[in-house]
Amino acid sequence: MLTPLPDAAARLAALERDAAHQAELSAGDGRSWVGARDGVRPVVIVGAGQAGLVLARGLRRRGIDDVVVVDAAPADAAGPWTTYARMHTLRTPKDIAWPTWGTPAVSPRAWFEAVYGDAAWDALEFFPTSAWQGFLRWYRDASAVTTVSSTHVSALTVGGVDDPLTLRLDGPDGEWMLPARHVVLATGIEGAGGRHLPALLDALPAERVHHTHDDIDFAALAGLRIGILGAGTGAFDNAATALEHGAASVDVHMRRPSMPQVSPYRWMEFAGLIENYGSFTDAQKWAFNVHLSAVDQPATQNALWRAHAFDTFRFRTSSPWESVSWTGREIAVTTPHGIHHYDVVLAATGIVADLGRRPELASVAADATLWSDRLAPADAAQNPGLAAFPYLDDDFGLVSRSAPDASPLSRIHLFNHGARISQGMLSHQIPGLVGGATKLAAALSRRLFQRDSDDLLAEYLAYDVPVGVHIGRRAQDPVPAPTPPVASWG
Ligand SMILES: Cc1cc2nc3c(=O)[nH]c(=O)nc-3n(C[C@H](O)[C@H](O)[C@H](O)COP(=O)(O)OP(=O)(O)OC[C@H]3O[C@@H](n4cnc5c(N)ncnc54)[C@H](O)[C@@H]3O)c2cc1C
Repeated sequence: MLTPLPDAAARLAALERDAAHQAELSAGDGRSWVGARDGVRPVVIVGAGQAGLVLARGLRRRGIDDVVVVDAAPADAAGPWTTYARMHTLRTPKDIAWPTWGTPAVSPRAWFEAVYGDAAWDALEFFPTSAWQGFLRWYRDASAVTTVSSTHVSALTVGGVDDPLTLRLDGPDGEWMLPARHVVLATGIEGAGGRHLPALLDALPAERVHHTHDDIDFAALAGLRIGILGAGTGAFDNAATALEHGAASVDVHMRRPSMPQVSPYRWMEFAGLIENYGSFTDAQKWAFNVHLSAVDQPATQNALWRAHAFDTFRFRTSSPWESVSWTGREIAVTTPHGIHHYDVVLAATGIVADLGRRPELASVAADATLWSDRLAPADAAQNPGLAAFPYLDDDFGLVSRSAPDASPLSRIHLFNHGARISQGMLSHQIPGLVGGATKLAAALSRRLFQRDSDDLLAEYLAYDVPVGVHIGRRAQDPVPAPTPPVASWG
């Protein structure tokens, strides 16, 4: 159990002074040059999780102001870390690459050492999730990113190729409209679709089935038999959480014969790939992701140990669910090894890409290009779930099917899990954020500059602010003494 140092508050205050000084040392990128124009915000970021926050800081660093960050969650609860992320630690090793934008004092390590001390850092292997959430709150405040919280984007409408995008927001003060030039959807792992609940669970009463991303009342599972479908890290963490709350037993079922032993994500964590993944051809991107889905990654060691600590936990391999039925009293799950009986089942079955399921994308989903549009049918058939992911341009923008070269859809940028095939881990994994936020901030800067280039050129040509050059001797300089004559040899 980590305990903040007694003087953590003073140490954090000192760190904030360091951050301010480092920002001065790295001198920034000059003045703010683009803001709201006729009430249209240059960029609205939907989502105040890690992706939205780092991008907001990066845009300010580039002189792009009047950016609005909106999140459906209450102020300190953005992202999954206080809700369905039920693991104790991150999967990513503690030395996390992080977009500090020239200010190392706002790195996760700097924050952690300030709060818990250097010795705690040395002893650490993985960031605890509660600490990660604490860091993100501090990063938001230290970056002076103001978020519009408890406010849900319920619709996004597009007009002509140059018209503003209009967001409909529902918040504590009711419904309002927000026009924007660019909209960045930093909406996380479900941002291009939603939770995947296999159809065979439809036969069960709704109160007997939960997805692991749901807000589950674990206390209500005390004394019950739980079956979990799927064997990723989340399955084991949910199993452990149920057992810690007094569940009678939990079985985790995995289709594979054994847990994968290799994590391709560990191979991926190098700057060359992260930054340049976009240079892969479409065929290479497809092969990369089909392979990743096929080999998957092991559940974390901590999650496995946490669940196996209970004698009433069972890990069942080679155990796909062939059918599921409700007997009127209990759930019967048929697997190749027999029939298992449960009171409640949890689906640890991840997410699906389906743009039409997102309220903020519903109006444009039909016109958005998907990977299935760009693949030969035989290739798409290798993995239809992946083929349903959106096909994005190099600026993370949607690509219109009807007008690929001139559509407002290219101003809707998916900086979320939906970008995983087009942009690699730049948007949906912590180590990718440095490359992703840098690339997207640069792209938005370029696009806004292109929009304003005539005005900027006119402003430049008309620029006539004198710098106040004074011709002549500086007033306080002494009048030089006359130079003595040089002795002559003659
Ligand atoms: C359980 C779990 C564990 C993970 N562990 C790791 C790990 O160890 N290492 C790693 O690299 N990655 C990990 N990830 C992947 C990734 O880092 C996280 O999903 C991370 O939260 C992504 O950050 P984000 O800012 O993109 O999205 P989020 O943190 O999910 O933030 C998205 C925000 O968007 C808001 N939002 C969504 N839709 C709307 C809307 N319509 N209107 C307004 N607001 C909206 C949500 O309220 C949310 O706050 C994990 C993911 C999960 C789910």
